[in-house]
Amino acid sequence: MTIQLPAAAMVVLLGPSGTGKSTFAARHFLPTEVLSSDAMRAMVADDPNDQDATDAAFELLHTALGFRLARGRLTVVDATNVEAWARAGLLAIARRHGVAAVAVVFDLPLDVCLERNAARSDRVLPSRAIRRQHALMATSPPALGKEGFESVWRLADAGSVSAAAVERFGR
Ligand code: GDP
Ligand code: MG
Repeated sequence: MTIQLPAAAMVVLLGPSGTGKSTFAARHFLPTEVLSSDAMRAMVADDPNDQDATDAAFELLHTALGFRLARGRLTVVDATNVEAWARAGLLAIARRHGVAAVAVVFDLPLDVCLERNAARSDRVLPSRAIRRQHALMATSPPALGKEGFESVWRLADAGSVSAAAVERFGR
């Protein structure tokens, strides 16, 4: 699959923890194009896992996103984004700047998500958190168009994630 992105898009990665979002972002985008909730937590708390820093982290992420989209810079939002209310905040910012929103859904099977989470060296979440994120993610794709995403790219297994290419069009 070749994911086609407008030159000035907001690209929302969507999927449970451990589905390879940050790995994918690092492979296909400039470091400065990626806004990650973990990096924002680290920025305010020196710890990417400090959940108490979540509100501040997302406030920073939203602010940086708005400044980038105002300049027409393609921006990737690397967070789980499995909750509709979290996506709504991002979509409002894209709409305000007249920028297309694109979703890339890391729709991996639950057993793969649980395995990857358990094998992680940086942070292992309780498996019930992964199950919850997976259930939310699995019901998202049909609603994403209605929410305001212009295109939705679904990666349905680990092979599709590693084989996916990214192309940009327009200026
Ligand atoms: P995120 O939580 O969605 O950002 O996922 P990460 O990109 O941090 O990856 C979570 C874990 O899965 C890490 O330990 C990665 O090394 C591993 N991982 C990422 N992509 C792949 C992949 O394509 N195959 C395998 N086997 N592991 C991967
Ligand atoms: Mg990550």
